[in-house]
Amino acid sequence: VWQQRPPWWHRDRNMKSITCSIPDSLYCALQSRLATEGATLDHVVSTLLGQSVGQSFHTLFQVSTSAALVEGLYQGAVRVSKLLEHGDFGLGTFVDLDGEMVVLEGKVYQVTASGEVGEVEGDRLIPYAVVTRFRADIEIGGAIFADFTALTEACDGRRTSDNLFYAFRVDGVFQLVQTRVMRTVAAGVSLGTAATGQANFNFENIRGTLIGLWAPGYAGAFIVPGYHFHFLSEDRKSGGHVLDCRARDLTLQACSISELHVSLPKTSEFLQADLTRDPNQQLISAERSHSPEK
Ligand SMILES: [Zn+2]
Repeated sequence: VWQQRPPWWHRDRNMKSITCSIPDSLYCALQSRLATEGATLDHVVSTLLGQSVGQSFHTLFQVSTSAALVEGLYQGAVRVSKLLEHGDFGLGTFVDLDGEMVVLEGKVYQVTASGEVGEVEGDRLIPYAVVTRFRADIEIGGAIFADFTALTEACDGRRTSDNLFYAFRVDGVFQLVQTRVMRTVAAGVSLGTAATGQANFNFENIRGTLIGLWAPGYAGAFIVPGYHFHFLSEDRKSGGHVLDCRARDLTLQACSISELHVSLPKTSEFLQADLTRDPNQQLISAERSHSPEK
């Protein structure tokens, strides 16, 4: 065994262990890679194997850009089945902003403004989404969050850099989760205007999962910068874009992301749009109405 796992490490139920023999030269190369990257053996071997079999780990796959969303470009660009080829975990939205998208354990869910949740078929076209293959680099148990700010501070503590992307998965029983869900709007209605008509939900004592992404500020032209969390209950009947939450004894898993794949729509809507405006101000008001701002 090359590396002692830290005490907070627990085996992921979706992980398998392998034992194999490799040549001395490869062993040395692997050891030097571990030393250079400061990463775990699990991380390095998964990444390298994933690359050779066409499954990239620690890669963010994004459809369209946040600037396009802010400008009201909500036409379908990519099918759900293609999205799932690139990731099993993430968030996004639907054509005409019809609800909030949650991608969890390889399934795509739509949370609608009526509060209903349904699994989405593979042939549906979607306008915007961000997914990754979630494989935790770290996991901590017994996490307590008094509010959304405490959640983001706990996640900050798991990030080793302000310049990489991160995915966060939080599981457990929540005393409170406040979500919002977008309502369908006509094409061309800006995200800021659309956000004023959203539906709001309060869930109490509910078991479920937070699906979160963190993006650096420099990426604000194409992805929502900072934290962005969606919620899905364990019974897959409730969810939405998270505005606030409170919970104790949660499990927090984090995974760093250093590769990006942005798939730009080839719709006439996208090709002809003026995307020169800085979307950040509108994104902050549309996506982060939780207080205090973070
Ligand atoms: Zn959202």
